[in-house]
Amino acid sequence: MTRVQPTPMINPDLRFNSYGSWLRRRFGCRVSKVNVDAGFTCPNRDGSRGVGGCIYCDNSSFSPPGTQPALTIEQQMAEGMSYHRRRLNSERFIVYFQKYTNTYSSEEALADLYRRALDHPDVVGISVGTRPDALSDGAIDLLAELARDRYVCVELGLQSMDDEILTRINRGHTLAEYREAVARLTGRGIALCTHLIYGFPGESRESFLETAELMASLPMESLKLHQLHAVAGTRLADLYRQGEFIPLTHGEYLATVCDFLERLPARIAIQRLYGSAPLAIRVAPTWGLKNNQMWYSVVNELKRRGSWQGCRVE
Ligand code: SF4
Repeated sequence: MTRVQPTPMINPDLRFNSYGSWLRRRFGCRVSKVNVDAGFTCPNRDGSRGVGGCIYCDNSSFSPPGTQPALTIEQQMAEGMSYHRRRLNSERFIVYFQKYTNTYSSEEALADLYRRALDHPDVVGISVGTRPDALSDGAIDLLAELARDRYVCVELGLQSMDDEILTRINRGHTLAEYREAVARLTGRGIALCTHLIYGFPGESRESFLETAELMASLPMESLKLHQLHAVAGTRLADLYRQGEFIPLTHGEYLATVCDFLERLPARIAIQRLYGSAPLAIRVAPTWGLKNNQMWYSVVNELKRRGSWQGCRVE
């Protein structure tokens, strides 16, 4: 196959379009995401869409310390901003409504939370994590209104484009519902991000790679990728103990992520390349790699191949 030449969006050192570089290009300074827990729940846990949640779901695995609903979002923002200012010299911030389903409330409550986040002078925008089936017309109208003069990103959890896998993991929505949510959000000035996981039981490398084509066909601005991992207290951890979940090796994940990036258009920025649940609750896989080792394992594999994000896009 003829290789497409790298575009200016591809960071030559990293060989992919990193979201950090994307933010710097867009805002002209170092921008960090600050996570907040605004006290939402999830329709896939409270019975309105499902019970028990996704089989891998334990929100403590993706919530940094300092984000707890006992604190106001202003307190959480102050703590997060101070951390990122100290650690990374960040100058501006995106408030990330992360935990559970962050559009699952009344429009009045959503407007209050989003506007309070945007009121801070150092906040350039918000990012809202949600499910495809939890976006009312009113919530989309609100996000579109805010997006007229601020950066507003909706992060949609899809995880897999295979409806059989979505059923097996108790995801509670289908690919068609995801496509419909993307269509309803498109053209409203809202940036779109999708969350994907690789390594579900019964998933093939080939079927995961097809997801790159799906992403290429949609107006996606960024993506988050991670390996399926089991954390303590989840159904997935039980399946692992029963031998029904065989985690990927690091080598398998690395090879497939690089194959995926090669098939993904360069315009789509990469927000995350791997998952990193806290060691204390991580059950499997345990690859024994620190975050920067995971990151550079992808960078170094792309270098070794002489390839880059989008080099195999027709
Ligand atoms: S949609 Fe998200 S918050 Fe809800 S059960 Fe699944 S992983 Fe957990």
